[in-house]
Amino acid sequence: MCYARGDGRQAMNWQKAATRLAVGMTMAAVVAWCPKAAAQAQISYRVGTAEALRGQRANGVLEVPKGVDAGYGIPVIVVNGVMPGRVLALVAGAHGTEYASILALERVAAILDPMHLTGTVVILPLVNPASFEHMVPHVNPVDGKNMNRFYPGKADGTQTERAAYVMTKEVVERCDYLIDYHGGDLDESLRPYSYWGPTGHEEQDRISKEMVLAFGLNHIILWRDRPTDPAATRYLDNTASVKGKPAIVVEAGHAGTVESDDVNLLVTGTISTMRALKMLEGPPLPIENPVWLEKTETVASEKGGIFYPLVLRSVYVAEGEKLGYVTDYYGNIVSTARAPVAGVVLHICAVPTMKQGDTVAVIGVPAEKAP
Ligand SMILES: [Zn+2]
Repeated sequence: MCYARGDGRQAMNWQKAATRLAVGMTMAAVVAWCPKAAAQAQISYRVGTAEALRGQRANGVLEVPKGVDAGYGIPVIVVNGVMPGRVLALVAGAHGTEYASILALERVAAILDPMHLTGTVVILPLVNPASFEHMVPHVNPVDGKNMNRFYPGKADGTQTERAAYVMTKEVVERCDYLIDYHGGDLDESLRPYSYWGPTGHEEQDRISKEMVLAFGLNHIILWRDRPTDPAATRYLDNTASVKGKPAIVVEAGHAGTVESDDVNLLVTGTISTMRALKMLEGPPLPIENPVWLEKTETVASEKGGIFYPLVLRSVYVAEGEKLGYVTDYYGNIVSTARAPVAGVVLHICAVPTMKQGDTVAVIGVPAEKAP
């Protein structure tokens, strides 16, 4: 019996009707059985050219139109759950050589089964294919811009700005939750961590905190004092946050490698977070006592030359401890980098190439108490 008809004898809600459709009942049979269920069951979710009916998945591209420079297509995978619910956006590859995060989303896309999913997952595994294809770290080589610094974007800007604009309209504004995936780039030896950016909106912060704990990475940066002007949000996750959508950033992977430990952290973290959001069945596995980091300190190199690290990622260093040194091309030490504060080495330069002002390391400072 159909719940929509108000017949309470054998109330059957329209989610179950959608399930019936997906498991092989013809649409005509569903329409006869429950018109409202049929209407709901037909709902599809579309991003760019990827359009999936309930219980289905679809691949496509989100077109960044040609402008002052070339256009391109951002790959999109829509996994539309058989049960209706909220929309979760998973985005990686703004930095196209942070490979572990990109491959993690490829894996997530492969294992998600729309028949066992509540709600819809929109996956963009590689926002910056030019960076990936040409192995250019940090920026989009088409316009030289960092693809996580120009949100909410501009319709008439350069390619990075137009991509940000399209992503804001088609992904951010239409989702309910968002996770942005990063990692150490080609020149960064990075330990896994996540960001939580509280907004002061209680319910939103409660959900985003639940997400970041469920994701399970054991070091979490408290990212306060971010732009609140919707016209200058800079970062993808902040664009979602400013629009009232719980959003987090997660990072794993380092220096061009695709280690299974890093990929697995990102995949299992995603599944656990989806369980916390009730999109997948089963209990989440939240981290219980993470290290909260109240701030980060970036150490820039005083001189250019050849960099020699003295510490590994993830170690804890004392204030003033040597992090590494730089020599000229004749072997003479020209500068020594020291930790400006005590804390954990979140990442340290992974290559000998060092220019003046480049990042030697980023140190995370543990918070006095958990938020
Ligand atoms: Zn990144």
